[in-house]
Amino acid sequence: MFAPVVQALLAAAALTLTVHAQTPVAITGVTVIDGTGRAPQPGTTVLVRDGRIVAVGRDGTVPIPARTQRIVGRGKYLIAGLWDAHVHLSALGRDGLPTLVQHGITSVRDLGGNLATVRTWRDAAERGDVLGPRMRLAGPIVENAFWLKRVRELGVAGLARDLEERIPVSTDADAVKAVDSIAAMGVDVLKLRNAPGTSAYAALLAAAQRKGLRVAGHQPNRSIGLAGALAAGQRSIEHIEGLGEVESLPAASRDSIARAYAAAEIWITPTLAASFGRFVAESVTVARVAGTSSDADLSLVTETLRAFWRAQRELKAYDAPLEQYAGMVTGGLAGLRVLRAAGVKLMAGTDLGVLTLTPGQSLHQELKLLVDSLGLTPLEAIQAATLEPARYFGQGDVMGTVEPGRLADLVLLRANPLADIRNIGAIDLVMLRGRVVRTTEGGRR
Ligand SMILES: [Zn+2]
Repeated sequence: MFAPVVQALLAAAALTLTVHAQTPVAITGVTVIDGTGRAPQPGTTVLVRDGRIVAVGRDGTVPIPARTQRIVGRGKYLIAGLWDAHVHLSALGRDGLPTLVQHGITSVRDLGGNLATVRTWRDAAERGDVLGPRMRLAGPIVENAFWLKRVRELGVAGLARDLEERIPVSTDADAVKAVDSIAAMGVDVLKLRNAPGTSAYAALLAAAQRKGLRVAGHQPNRSIGLAGALAAGQRSIEHIEGLGEVESLPAASRDSIARAYAAAEIWITPTLAASFGRFVAESVTVARVAGTSSDADLSLVTETLRAFWRAQRELKAYDAPLEQYAGMVTGGLAGLRVLRAAGVKLMAGTDLGVLTLTPGQSLHQELKLLVDSLGLTPLEAIQAATLEPARYFGQGDVMGTVEPGRLADLVLLRANPLADIRNIGAIDLVMLRGRVVRTTEGGRR
């Protein structure tokens, strides 16, 4: 008898909570670069309520509710919140999360680390207990068993825990077991670093496909190659070092593989900032790791990250010689240009954790490199950090553009990023989950 009344009251209470959960925010007079490829729209009002963009339209045409927080966007540019599509948050530490957001990074794809810990950070960020981006997590890294055994034996104390958490695979049975255990953890993506042999690789990819788990991996060795990765259904290739393979193919198969990659649901994350970091002078790297360098961006480095850098330095003797590495990067860039010309999809990611990338700032550096070294337009670089990662996760109609209905993750810039991608650093304000999380007045950059 009372049930309908109670239900109605509960519904009303829920509605009240929802309506008052957040003050609506209107950004007016702004130039919107919506990220769809549409031309910039000056003189635009963007209305945000309850974590979503509810309206985008010319100034004066969007009704603004009472008690709306107004932000004057005249002379400024609004883009969707950025992704860093390749990070290792365990290496950064929880206290580094706000730095990411302050640099406009509202989402990350974490490609390996301590799942239990990072999951608590993700949940705390979702609740608003800590300022941190949305997180998609891989959990433990799957490794070639032989490689993992060798590196563990080197006994670098600062890497012991990280290496202990990785899952070795050498046989088909290992591969299936690894996929089963990782799928049971409820991760968003499976990270394969050094691929096992051809048979175990095929078994791993097939098992992942059965579980509906997307696999992100380094480019497998040449016996598997780009064609093998494509056939097995690997969903992203991380880094460029292996892409020199493209150049070594006969012209006809090069073209057909490029076209096949462009047509497939497969993305490449070049992580150029990490590659280029290898060519910094040794003395500069030493000073950055020690914290004695005067580089302003070092203020963004957490103690956890610095300790991780120090541990990596202990493996320096095992790095490929610089000349050899330079050849891999040059070949990789050439291969990627061929793939890119055919329309292959890219994601912007940094490999944060690697020497000596600073959180947030390194993504801005990555976007500059995508433009300067790979020839993307500034808009394409922005899309690689917004719409493309969203599409990779099947969320292209939920986030990644400035359109009604999309999640209200936004970055307001003081200068036009399409005129110069370096203006991605001219951040005036970041909105995450519909809330303004940072404003600066007359900052430098
Ligand atoms: Zn990585």
